[in-house]
Amino acid sequence: MRAMLCGCGQRLEANGDDGLVIETLAHYRWIHGMAVVDGENIRRIVRENAYGLEHAAPYAGGTGPDEEFGPEPY
Ligand SMILES: [Zn+2]
Repeated sequence: MRAMLCGCGQRLEANGDDGLVIETLAHYRWIHGMAVVDGENIRRIVRENAYGLEHAAPYAGGTGPDEEFGPEPY
């Protein structure tokens, strides 16, 4: 899951950078009334500003990241 914060404060979400580019293009078109023809420019914006939602989510437990991987098999 990827997410990006638009300059207007709207958070855009998609399953990957490619999806986020499409979401951003649609958002610019419908919310900002801008028909963005330069998809490469949007791609650059997404690459520089998108972040992974999994990293932003707080840990549910207080055990720390070591518990995530389970016990070592050896
Ligand atoms: Zn916006």
